[in-house]
Amino acid sequence: MSSQSIEPAELARQYGTPLYVYDVDRVRAARRDLFGALPEGFEVFYAFKANPHVDLVRALRDGEGPACKAEISSTGELAAALEAGYVGSDILYTGPGKTQEELREAVGTGVRTFSAESLSDLRHIGEAAVAHGTVVDCLLRINSATASASTSIRMTGAPTQFGIDSETVADTAAELLEVPGTSVAGLHLFSQSNARDEEALIGELTHTIEVAAAIQEDLGVPLRLLDIGGGFSVPYAQHGERAQYPKLRSELEASLDLHFPQWREGTPRLAVESGRYLAGDSGTLVAQVSNVKISRGKKFVIIDAGINTFGGMSGLGRLLPVSVHVDAEGETEKASLVGPLCTPGDVLGRQIDLPVLAPGDLVRIPNAGAYGPTSSLLMFLGRPAPVEIAVGNGEVVSVSRIEHVRTYRHQEPGDE
Ligand SMILES: *Cc1c(COP(=O)(O)O)cnc(C)c1O
Repeated sequence: MSSQSIEPAELARQYGTPLYVYDVDRVRAARRDLFGALPEGFEVFYAFKANPHVDLVRALRDGEGPACKAEISSTGELAAALEAGYVGSDILYTGPGKTQEELREAVGTGVRTFSAESLSDLRHIGEAAVAHGTVVDCLLRINSATASASTSIRMTGAPTQFGIDSETVADTAAELLEVPGTSVAGLHLFSQSNARDEEALIGELTHTIEVAAAIQEDLGVPLRLLDIGGGFSVPYAQHGERAQYPKLRSELEASLDLHFPQWREGTPRLAVESGRYLAGDSGTLVAQVSNVKISRGKKFVIIDAGINTFGGMSGLGRLLPVSVHVDAEGETEKASLVGPLCTPGDVLGRQIDLPVLAPGDLVRIPNAGAYGPTSSLLMFLGRPAPVEIAVGNGEVVSVSRIEHVRTYRHQEPGDE
């Protein structure tokens, strides 16, 4: 698009609020930093669920340096990946509830690598492959019975819909290796998200490598691809910088040399996954103050972006409180920051430090590029989705908005 100001306040005047601004140059920088923190030859799968916006995805695929591959979990994300230029062979399809319809669509589109979350999921994948007359590579997703001592968030060790319990692999190996239409190509482990602390991240990823080596023994076949998960961290709706991992590369190399001595020759290929680290710091949410009120001595600042626009995951306690910035920083005061929805759950921060705000003021919420619109309650209470603007190289790249419409199929009298 033509040159126009990419100042958030100017864009807000032009396109209205609430408004997301994504800087694709920052996405490129995150991609560079992540590949730079990893050993040579590692693959990076971008988790589309963090933000499937086509211009962010293109910034992860196109241009200089190693490109990210795509980790998707639905036909909607498949369409987004194809729109951004990915082809089937760049895609890893994951998720605990893959249906026959979506599997057939994915296989039909050329996707040839799937993560299998159980023996029955593996069979479902195989059915779709056989129906298409092909054989697909499957990574067995493993739910490790153990985690490293230093992890805080864990998705492992407990009963879960994700992955095959590690302690059962030895007993089911024969069945896992014999599913028609599938070839067990490797393992997929994903045990943590958002590990701010480098020691914790390294502890968990090297533990994952150990677990994977033990499971390779249990399976009795060599791995071709090992996806060790991720956990790369960036602040979420708070001020701050993406985490840096200066020691990660050498620690991973040492662990791989020990457990997979052929890895430098590509056996197995190694991969990690990341959503938030790649997308998070590219985004700023710009909102406008609709009203300010006092209730029983407490101040409430009501903005036009609530959990419908940002923070569908706030119910999981992952978001609160956000930090808010204005162009002219001055005094702050304690107030609750709330959205416009008719539910007491529409709170972005309870009695937090806020600038002194009045109706009409614009506020910015930083580091909002991941888990924004598409992980929010977009439909709740029927407000329009936010405008999303991608900028890069000092220019507006695209302006878009997700539309939600109900489509009717009327039954005519006499229809079956
Ligand atoms: C959500 C998810 C990711 C991305 O997590 P981030 O914390 O955003 O990096 C990666 N892999 C899997 C399997 C996931 O479910």
